[in-house]
Amino acid sequence: LEEGTSQMQEETVDLYELTEDIGDTLLHSAQKKDITMKIEGITQEITGVRQILYEMLYNLMDNGIKYNVEHGKLWVRMWKTADKIYWQVEDTGIGIAKDEQERIYERFYRVDKSHSRQTGGTGLGLSIVKHGAALHHAQIRTESQPGQGTKITIEFPLDRET
Ligand code: ATP
Ligand code: MG
Repeated sequence: LEEGTSQMQEETVDLYELTEDIGDTLLHSAQKKDITMKIEGITQEITGVRQILYEMLYNLMDNGIKYNVEHGKLWVRMWKTADKIYWQVEDTGIGIAKDEQERIYERFYRVDKSHSRQTGGTGLGLSIVKHGAALHHAQIRTESQPGQGTKITIEFPLDRET
């Protein structure tokens, strides 16, 4: 990811528009599990690399569906403060134990291999999220309760030097 960065163009990206696009792409997989997806927010523009931001938000929303329960809910919210734009995804899924909450961002790491085999995936999604966040000087906050759900918040700084 780092090596390719120099060729990647930074531009103004509307996180709301990106999220709506991803929501459309994931609608069918959400419907298959009868998951209600709700996107809450307004236009939130940041300077960033569109393709990487897409991959990041896609992976987080994909996880929110994959590790959700049947008839579950998925909320995506975004809002702005004086110095940050917040982008948050919350699901009503299986959750992540406290001692796994750091490790899931490692390359190829997947919790509970037997469950993971059912859902499929490479375990790369969240490492892309981690590297993409670093590239955008963003922080990731993970909150989760096993058996209840997971909330992941990305905090994008607004005042960074470009
Ligand atoms: P890929 O994203 O490459 O298709 P993946 O979803 O398994 O595969 P990651 O997105 O990196 O890989 O996630 C790593 C692991 O963290 C998952 O396998 C799963 O065990 C756990 N995990 C990630 N997101 C959630 C979530 N929202 N709820 C519960 N567990 C999660
Ligand atoms: Mg994933």
